[in-house]
Amino acid sequence: MWFKLNIKSILIVLVLFIGLGCTPEKKAGYRILTAGIRHESNSFMPYLTAADDFTILRGTDVTKDRAWAIFLEEEGIEVIPTLTATSGPSGIVSKEAYESFRDEILQAFQDAGPVDGIFLDMHGALHVEDYPDAQVDFIQAIRKIVGKDVVVAASFDLHGNISQEFMDGLNILSAYRTAPHVDGDETRLRTVKLLLEALHHNYLPQVAHINIPILIPGEKGITNVEPVKSFYDRLPEIAGMEGLMDASIFVGMPWTDVARAGMSVQVVAADAQYLLKAQDQAEALANSIWEQRNNLQFDVETASIDDAIQMAQESQDSTVFITDSGDNITAGAAGDGTLVLERLLAHQVSDAVLAGIYDPEAVELCVKAGIGAEVELTIGGKIDYVFSRPLSISGTVLSLPKGDANSEKYDVVMQVDDVILVLLSAHRAFTDPVHFQAVGIDPLAFKIVVVKEGYLFQGLRDIAPRAIMALTPGFANQTLEKMEYLQVRRPIFPLDPDMTWTASSQ
Ligand SMILES: [Zn+2]
Repeated sequence: MWFKLNIKSILIVLVLFIGLGCTPEKKAGYRILTAGIRHESNSFMPYLTAADDFTILRGTDVTKDRAWAIFLEEEGIEVIPTLTATSGPSGIVSKEAYESFRDEILQAFQDAGPVDGIFLDMHGALHVEDYPDAQVDFIQAIRKIVGKDVVVAASFDLHGNISQEFMDGLNILSAYRTAPHVDGDETRLRTVKLLLEALHHNYLPQVAHINIPILIPGEKGITNVEPVKSFYDRLPEIAGMEGLMDASIFVGMPWTDVARAGMSVQVVAADAQYLLKAQDQAEALANSIWEQRNNLQFDVETASIDDAIQMAQESQDSTVFITDSGDNITAGAAGDGTLVLERLLAHQVSDAVLAGIYDPEAVELCVKAGIGAEVELTIGGKIDYVFSRPLSISGTVLSLPKGDANSEKYDVVMQVDDVILVLLSAHRAFTDPVHFQAVGIDPLAFKIVVVKEGYLFQGLRDIAPRAIMALTPGFANQTLEKMEYLQVRRPIFPLDPDMTWTASSQ
């Protein structure tokens, strides 16, 4: 009898065990911690990004109205928000700012007690004063608290510079698959879904990572232009393979002079047993990118600034957008370069708008002078004193700030000869028609529209009859061979054009 009962018990246990193994049951009440430090750091820009330059969210502000958080909530997951710090691209981050964010996050992680997973909302191109790789410092500090068995998932901008050591600390990652970016929310949602999948199935995923020795500006990595489109088209297919969870390609951020700068690929294996398969897929992808390195080209006309102005004036198109690519604010450059304004004035261009030049001091002088005032100002060249210089102008103040200091409504519009000039009160670019609307400007009413970008962002791309990228000097110079790199690993293409390379993930 005892023997029979015991066999029956064992059978019941076995049935339960097999059943659970085949169809994993959802466990209610997962606890997921979330945090993020998002910054694209341009190391050539002589400006130290401080804590004040970041938008810092804490508590429920971190999760409010975010698609990924709404999804987790609907799944019955407890999300524990800590801190997210986000800033537009600029110079490297001060040690003090980074450490204050990191330490607050770590303290919150410690206070949270045991958790099942972590979701990190990152950019990937963070570079911090005195830290060779702050992202590695960050993940290793987190691992010290939560251990190696908690699933850590992170989402990224595809312009991140990613190292093997950083990937060693992550279980799951997903990078944007569009540039210009239109899938930020989608990527964060995909990342938390993968995190949840790992928890449901008791996976401890691993990442196969390869740094590809290719350094390109984002303008040569536009995802709906070949050959880049074909690379990105392969990602869902790889992610759908048995035992693999996701695949990413980083175009990288070439204006951060660090060893890890450049392109990379990652394939996430659901568990250690699939890591070799993930490595094979990552190698194949990396090799196909490497083979196409000479075909990674701009998708837009390029010209010197003088030629760009002349081409625009002679164009049959109603409006021509010119990007001041060397002073691209969206790549962390100064945004206060005056070269393009100087050339527009020298060409005696009429019917042009330049949006804009970053100079908060000039904005305040215009505020004091008032609408309609004739002002004489020396603008720009304050941060970028390397490739630019302050420019003395005289003009009329057309409109003054109408909103709060953090919006385009706080910018000044003035007329300088026949050029409409926007003076930016904050370090941010006009990337969308709504930014023009905020200061009462219809860009399509002008023959020439100049913005401090590299590629046109999607909102402007959608309306621009024609775009020319002016290859101007600055901290985001598109001609990388002209930058003075000291830390970027060598050899790397195109700085060492004759190098040979074959992918090897380990
Ligand atoms: Zn980006």
